[in-house]
Amino acid sequence: MVRDDVAAGTVDTVVTRFPPEPNGHLHIGHAKSICLNFGVAEEFGGRCHMRFDDTNPAKEDVEYIESIKNDVRWLGYDWGEHIYFASDNFEQLYDWAIHLINGGLAYVDDQSADEIRARRGTLTEPGEDSPWRDRPVAENLDLFARMRAGEFKQGARVLRARIDMASGNINMRDPVLYLIVHEPHPRTGDNWHIYPTYDFAHGQSDAIEGVTHSLCTLEFADHRPLYDWLIEHLPVPSRPRQYEFSRLNLSHTVLSKRRLIELVEGGHVEGWDDPRMPTLSGLRRRGYSPAAIRDFAARIGVTKSDNVVEMALLEHCVREPANRTAERRMAVLRPLKVVIENYPQAESEQIEAINNPEDDGAGTRMIPFSRELYIEREDFMEDPPRKFFRLAPGREARLRYGYFITCREAVKNDAGEVIELRCTYDPETRGGHAPDGRKVKATLHWVSANHCVTGEVRLYNALFSEAEPSMGDDFLDGLNPESLERLENCRLEPLLADAAPGVVVQFERQGYFCADPTSTPERPVFNRTVALRDSWAKIQARGKSGG
Ligand code: ATP
Ligand code: MG
Repeated sequence: MVRDDVAAGTVDTVVTRFPPEPNGHLHIGHAKSICLNFGVAEEFGGRCHMRFDDTNPAKEDVEYIESIKNDVRWLGYDWGEHIYFASDNFEQLYDWAIHLINGGLAYVDDQSADEIRARRGTLTEPGEDSPWRDRPVAENLDLFARMRAGEFKQGARVLRARIDMASGNINMRDPVLYLIVHEPHPRTGDNWHIYPTYDFAHGQSDAIEGVTHSLCTLEFADHRPLYDWLIEHLPVPSRPRQYEFSRLNLSHTVLSKRRLIELVEGGHVEGWDDPRMPTLSGLRRRGYSPAAIRDFAARIGVTKSDNVVEMALLEHCVREPANRTAERRMAVLRPLKVVIENYPQAESEQIEAINNPEDDGAGTRMIPFSRELYIEREDFMEDPPRKFFRLAPGREARLRYGYFITCREAVKNDAGEVIELRCTYDPETRGGHAPDGRKVKATLHWVSANHCVTGEVRLYNALFSEAEPSMGDDFLDGLNPESLERLENCRLEPLLADAAPGVVVQFERQGYFCADPTSTPERPVFNRTVALRDSWAKIQARGKSGG
């Protein structure tokens, strides 16, 4: 549509806008809108405005304004000097309301919100005219000015457009343009006692800014006739047009600011930036990159029909670049002690390890090896089933970049749990190869007990158990009780003590992780960004095989 407008010459410079209401933090659904609006502007050499739709002072806060600006910049977009606030237009909007009153196209209604609703009619029945619909212009002007001055109680009166109470579109049945609200506004302070509704503020702000394509989500399609009516009946400086696209729904989470606020306020997550949250701050803390999110937005595209996108696709967009760029490290999440009986007591050595097999430029690093090590508890079984090829009594396995070791004995505590493995190593296998060519089936990750650092690793799973959680008042029942698994006694190779927050590394055989902002060299804390297993690839494969 934009291309056609440009080709036909009806639009010269393409101008879009991203219009958040500063009443919450941005989530991945907003990212879709940001990528679309800024992306379209970029593609056609136009510009995208940052517009705060700040017409509801009761719910808005400057804290949100700063966080939203930060998130949009983080995603990689720049509005330059084009930052606007609907509240900057309050005076102009007020003048235009008077313009409508003078033209007999708006009136002050003394009915309560309930009365207005009761008379609005239904989809099959027309509404009823308000008893105040034919108020003389002079009386409307007087009352509206007094509404502005704060003479009336909140909710006592409203200003309505005078359109058509029998319209098939309920939005055209004399919609409310102004409400009396006695709340200070974060930007205009106590100047106003009336505030324009979204419908009255949005399109006119578009026109003031010279927006050409006002891209919004499908629920506004029914508002488009009103959008157009207002633009046609007001002396606005330009002619914007509204187009709708489907909002992003993502499986296993909720994308509604209201619901997200409930999760935070109810203590169900640790804050807006909890790595399980679909907020941009949460995804950032989890290690998702702006490029991965932009790639996701490009892959889901823009449609006109509602659907639910698999969380696995978003994870796929994160994992794919991580595999190419993340340096590998060794981290033992559930440690089991290994003592190598034939390795000298007081000795240790440095072993060379490859940082990233996908990237030669990433080089190598040295990791310490010594007599006492940790391996992953699940890499040993006392009584292994047929397909378990890792360590077991009498069995040999490779320690990655290190040596072959053979398990001689499993030491148990009084409760009968294995607490230590006594092993021997073959000094000829340094680097992980046997000169006699003998093979082992398993390669294990490990760390040196006296050199490693102990830290916490947080494994995140879906926030909601069901793919499409109930959005009703029972929505908390759908929370996944296993959305966070905290492992507090993990053993990490020494380099991980100094990992920079947000930089994703691969823990070999475990997944992709990044240091949490609260991580310290003494007590590193890592968040699992995404697991190694690609469930999206599986979903795709299933689709292809027709299953
Ligand atoms: P929520 O439903 O989370 O409260 P909202 O629509 O009230 O969201 P706004 O701040 O008004 O939040 O949204 C700013 C812009 O982002 C709007 O243009 C809105 O249509 C768009 N947007 C919000 N949620 C989504 C979503 N899930 N997918 C795509 N666009 C979205
Ligand atoms: Mg909104």
